[in-house]
Amino acid sequence: APQLLFSLVMILFIGISFYFMYRSLRMQQRLMLLKNDFVSNMTHELKTPVATASVAIEALRSFRTLDDPERTHEYLEIAQHELNRLTLLTDNILKAAIFESKGIAIHIETFELKEVVAQVLASMKLVFEKKRASVTFHAEGDDFRARGGKAHIVNLFYNLLDNALKYSPGEPEISVRLKCVKDGVLLNIRDKGIGIPPEFHKKVFEKFFRVPSGNVHNIKGHGLGLNYVAGVVKSHGGTIRLDSQPGKGSTFIVYLPKHYEKN
Ligand code: ADP
Repeated sequence: APQLLFSLVMILFIGISFYFMYRSLRMQQRLMLLKNDFVSNMTHELKTPVATASVAIEALRSFRTLDDPERTHEYLEIAQHELNRLTLLTDNILKAAIFESKGIAIHIETFELKEVVAQVLASMKLVFEKKRASVTFHAEGDDFRARGGKAHIVNLFYNLLDNALKYSPGEPEISVRLKCVKDGVLLNIRDKGIGIPPEFHKKVFEKFFRVPSGNVHNIKGHGLGLNYVAGVVKSHGGTIRLDSQPGKGSTFIVYLPKHYEKN
């Protein structure tokens, strides 16, 4: 009997050890996945400011811009603005690296959404010119103050504008609208590009999803931008919606509440 008891205790002990080993492996696996997500998201986010800054510097070098103080000033400002953005992003990455599994720390501040949109549009001016894109911006209302992670909101605009450009063949026509609504702000970004079939309207916000039709495969991308955008909107307690028809274009409609509450 003591031997049997001993065997039982041993079996129990081995069982429990295996269980804990399994749990710790699962946990490590989950942490790895989180880390991979984070790395791929950030790689994507870092590329846009680098690209915009280099276009500005390239423009400074290739035209006779340096003889034109106004243009020189404008291009230098764009490059500087992008480098500031990059600084903010790297700062966030460093913070997140410290907290690793907790993701990006959102630094909450109050900002003017209309100014933020105008700044993003101004800093993308050269990119728009290069693609021969026409971009209009209308704001309706008088109070565009919002609270939240400004750097992430800026990235949200960049991502949506970048997509509007990427998925518009020929000369892109993009319209940006801001509207004050009760307790928040509505942002519409509309393009007249290839559009998205209705069956993919939810899926485009999933990680790594790319619409498997159209000439999407000639267009560079990883299917991460909209997932990040949806994450930013959600963390601000907002909503994002898509109105689109293949061949007609797409409108992304973002609602951001004025007051930030941790979500
Ligand atoms: P990426 O553009 O890097 O592939 P996104 O997450 O930004 O990744 O977008 C996911 C997919 O949604 C894209 O691959 C594309 O198929 C589709 N998509 C996004 N924005 C647009 C748009 N403005 N017009 C048409 N299709 C779009």
